[in-house]
Amino acid sequence: MNEVVSQLIALQKIDLQLDAIDTIIKQKQDALDQQAALLAQRESDIDDLHEQISTLEQERRTLDLELNEELAHVKSRQSKMMQVQTGREQTALLKEIEDGKQGIKEKEEKMVAIMEEMESFTAQIARQQELIKGETKNLLTETAITKEDIEAIINNKKEHDSTRKKQAGAMELRLFNKYSLLRERRKGVAVVNVLEGVCQGCFMSIPPQQYNILLRGDRHLDCPVCQRIIYHLPMDEQE
Ligand SMILES: [Zn+2]
Repeated sequence: MNEVVSQLIALQKIDLQLDAIDTIIKQKQDALDQQAALLAQRESDIDDLHEQISTLEQERRTLDLELNEELAHVKSRQSKMMQVQTGREQTALLKEIEDGKQGIKEKEEKMVAIMEEMESFTAQIARQQELIKGETKNLLTETAITKEDIEAIINNKKEHDSTRKKQAGAMELRLFNKYSLLRERRKGVAVVNVLEGVCQGCFMSIPPQQYNILLRGDRHLDCPVCQRIIYHLPMDEQE
């Protein structure tokens, strides 16, 4: 096989390996970030719950004041009952007392509901805090493991990097620039095989005349459809 084609194939292979390594590192980092985001969400949920509780507490206090006023009012109306003479006055007072009692009853029910809601929020906070405790512990462990993993991967990557540097340095600059540009524009794949007349980058057929040139195995061409650098290597000769 032609030397330049071998160089291209080797460089593409190592670059794909490096891409895969970067993807793995990113996935590991993303997994940690996701966990950290989940924890932050829980913290913010807890803040929300605290805020709701304090709003409810204010409501409860207001109700409590109103309730005391209403109780005092009913009490004063009840003592006035002793002093009234006419039936009409009595009826009016009785109505006032009944309305007052009804109001007291409604406010008491409202207060019970508010307190139940506050209890439920407090329980939710406790649950979230418990989860945060466990998740923080996990995250710390996983961060340590991931850090080691990534360090090992990066060490391993260094070997690939130096091989890559040699490969790239051996290549003609113009070809290397073309290769780099194609890598950017074609999702990392710049050099592809052509099998049975089909470009393995875009899976379109290339003209028979060009395919015949590639079949001789001593040249590379540009795919007329995706512009990738194409060559021909029979299936059984591929690694
Ligand atoms: Zn193509």
